Amino acid sequence: MTAKIIDGKAISEVFRAEYKVRVDRLIERGVKPGLAVIIVGDDAASQVYVRNKARACEAIGMHSEVHALPADTSQEDLLTWVNNLNANSAIHGILVQLPLPKHMDDRAVIEAIYPMKDVDGFHYANMGALVIDESWFPPCTPFGVMQMLAHEGVEIEGKHAVVIGRSNIVGKPQAMLLLKAGATVTVCHSKTKDLKKFTRDADILVAAIGCANMVTGDMVKPGAVVIDVGINRLPTGKLCGDVDFESAKLVAAAITPVPGGVGPMTITMLLGNTLRAAERAAGMAKSAGFTMMA
Ligand code: NDP
Repeated sequence: MTAKIIDGKAISEVFRAEYKVRVDRLIERGVKPGLAVIIVGDDAASQVYVRNKARACEAIGMHSEVHALPADTSQEDLLTWVNNLNANSAIHGILVQLPLPKHMDDRAVIEAIYPMKDVDGFHYANMGALVIDESWFPPCTPFGVMQMLAHEGVEIEGKHAVVIGRSNIVGKPQAMLLLKAGATVTVCHSKTKDLKKFTRDADILVAAIGCANMVTGDMVKPGAVVIDVGINRLPTGKLCGDVDFESAKLVAAAITPVPGGVGPMTITMLLGNTLRAAERAAGMAKSAGFTMMA
């Protein structure tokens, strides 16, 4: 068996086309959705991510602005930037690119973002709301995974989903979203004993580890759906995921590639969250919480 390749780029295009229609509708009403990204320092990978986010916004007609601050910016100055953007009605979403330089307190900065502009979904208010199924802004990467599964018609209810990784930005919210969708969820991490015992039992396996090619084909249940969140750079400069794609694709029913899988969906969900923030500000939002396809 060779797995179906889940094409995150193609699925993203479907969402972005729908978002563009909604952006045009907002612009007709005089509201241009706006995303502000703050980046501190000169980390090369972060700069690429930020550029890609800004381009994606502009491609669907949204306003985007990037504020690149020097690495020695004080936390107080950064908080002033955040507060000014909180008060700016042309900005509907604020994202502070992580990680911040060591002299800054990431958590304090995230908590300074107005929760209704926290399009990354990392503020306590949004994380807490996620736990009780009412989040406006589910974190972009796990939300993107859920949208991919929905788009591919993957049945989740009653299935065993195994998430490897328990970070606040991927593993934990991923587990919450799978739980909400009716899966029985197991979360594995670096202290898990006999990881393979769990992964071999997963109908849906999500790897969010940060360890190149760690999940090999023999760790995958035949017929499973494998979602690879990892982004790792090999010494050759090539990108790869946490899953050994070549061996896993021979066992799985469906699998995401790296690049071209979860990555594009993460940016797409950021656009969706910003759009939803603007629709809310314009009084056009559909409901208090999110729906899987909104
Ligand atoms: P973190 O480093 O914050 O978390 C990694 C998790 O993996 C931790 O919970 C850790 O366990 C667990 N882990 C580490 N080693 C093992 C092991 N040997 N066995 C089992 N579990 C292990 O990473 P992130 O969650 O931020 O990111 C994970 C990956 O996803 C990275 O490659 C990152 O680049 C990528 N990423 C991709 C995105 C995308 O858009 N595609 C977006 C965000 C991240 P413990 O908690 O015990 O330390």
